[in-house]
Amino acid sequence: MTIDRLILGFKSFRETYYEEQPDFYRLLVEKGQKPEIMVIACSDSRVNPSILAKADPGELFIVRNVANLVPPYEPDSNYHGTSAAIEFAVRNLNVQHIIVLGHSHCGGIRFLCESRKGDEKREFIEGWMSIVEQVRDDGLAGEAQHRHAEREAVKVSLSNLLSFPWVKDRVEDGQLKLHGWWFDLVAGELLAHEAEEGWKTVAG
Ligand SMILES: [Zn+2]
Repeated sequence: MTIDRLILGFKSFRETYYEEQPDFYRLLVEKGQKPEIMVIACSDSRVNPSILAKADPGELFIVRNVANLVPPYEPDSNYHGTSAAIEFAVRNLNVQHIIVLGHSHCGGIRFLCESRKGDEKREFIEGWMSIVEQVRDDGLAGEAQHRHAEREAVKVSLSNLLSFPWVKDRVEDGQLKLHGWWFDLVAGELLAHEAEEGWKTVAG
């Protein structure tokens, strides 16, 4: 991937959404965005939700961070980028769904599972990943431990979403639905978590 390749990509995008469909962005600007779905995804370059779901501009409100984590509700003066995105999606845009999209072979989860005392320190990743430190199961090892932790972390994030009072209220009123998804990069499968049935393949 080069910068020139990106500029060529933009030209192709422009042809599709400006030249072939001149009203597309005009309406998105005039009427504003009205996405009904928020996705909380990993920053990993392989799990872009718009590409995975073949979504058009205007359809998904996305926040991406290391390991697709939702922190707990902490309304203090710190810089809560993910919480601000969730608040905007829920309270300003009134999204009807929030999907936490986990994935296999997640570098953030690998970091959590494999970091040991004495390793080279990072300045922000340890603190960020401590949001889901309970998913590190030392009874498992290697890839099995990672796959387990990746899925459990999605469940912790769903639970943390409910710590935001205006998320909880809307879920209880039926205005908002929360979804836990996990994308298997090897099998090319999408799994969804159901409270009673656990993880089930929904596409693949
Ligand atoms: Zn990841």
